[in-house]
Amino acid sequence: MIGFQDVRKEYGSTVAVHDLRLSLPDGAITVLVGPSGCGKTTLLRMVNRMVEPTSGRVLLDGTDVRELDPARLRRGIGYVIQQAGLFPHRDVLDNVGTVLVLGGTGRREARRRAVELLDLVGLPAELGTRYPAQLSGGQQQRVGVARALAADPPVLLMDEPFSAVDPVVRQGLQDELLRLQGELGKTVLFVTHDIDEAVKLGDRVAVLRQGGHLAQVAAPDELLAR
Ligand code: ADP
Ligand code: ADP
Repeated sequence: MIGFQDVRKEYGSTVAVHDLRLSLPDGAITVLVGPSGCGKTTLLRMVNRMVEPTSGRVLLDGTDVRELDPARLRRGIGYVIQQAGLFPHRDVLDNVGTVLVLGGTGRREARRRAVELLDLVGLPAELGTRYPAQLSGGQQQRVGVARALAADPPVLLMDEPFSAVDPVVRQGLQDELLRLQGELGKTVLFVTHDIDEAVKLGDRVAVLRQGGHLAQVAAPDELLAR
C-alpha cells in the first residue's frame, strides 16, 4: 500500500533521508526506530505530503502521492503526534468530529459519532464535553487517536505518539493500540526512538541510523544487535 522508492530528502547540505527503499505491508504496524535526527519524522511526513522528497517517489496504492491533492490526502490519512495537537478552544467531541465535519457531516451527527470513537479508544462519554486542558496527557493522546480514526482512514501515521506520557500510561496506550489494530487492521507507520516500544508494537521494524540510512528491516524477533 505504501512504498518508498529511492526516497531522498536534503535540507541544504543535511541529508535527512538517504536514498531509502521500503515498502509497508497492508494491515500491519511498521515501526521506524532510530536515534533523534535520523530522519524518522521526515520520512513519515512524506506520506501525507507535509514534506516533499528531494528525489525518489512515495507510492500510495501504486499512485505517486504527488498526483494526489494534499488536502484530500491529509483527510484520508490519520495522523497522531506527540502532544496530541488538539484544538484548545473546542471540546473533546468537536475535536474528534472535526474531520467528519470537514467531510460534510453535520455537527450533531459528528458529535454522536465522536462518542462512539471515544468508546473505541477506551474513554468514557463524560469526557466528551471537556476541553483538552482538562484531560491528562494520556487521555489527550487517546483523543488524538480517536480523532485520527474518525474518518476511518486505511492508513495511520503515528509520530512518537506515546513518548510524552509516563511509562505506566504509555504501556496502557501501547496495549490499546495493539487491541485496536487487531480489531481494525489499519496500515500503521509508527515512529519511535525507543527500541522496546518498536519491538512490542511492530509487525515489522525498520531501523534507521544517522544520516537517514536504513540499517535493517526485520520482524521484531529477528532484529540484530538489540
Ligand atoms: P527524527 O524524526 O529521526 O528525529 P527528523 O526527520 O526530524 O529526524 O530530522 C532529520 C534531520 O533533518 C535532522 O538533522 C534535522 O535537523 C533535519 N531537519 C528536519 N526538518 C528540517 C527542516 N525543516 N529544515 C532543516 N533541517 C531539517
Ligand atoms: P516534532 O517533534 O513535532 O517532530 P520538531 O521539533 O522535530 O517537531 O520540528 C518542528 C518543526 O521544525 C518541523 O516542521 C520540522 O520540519 C522543523 N525542523 C526540525 N529540525 C529542523 C532544523 N534543523 N532546521 C529547521 N527546521 C527544522
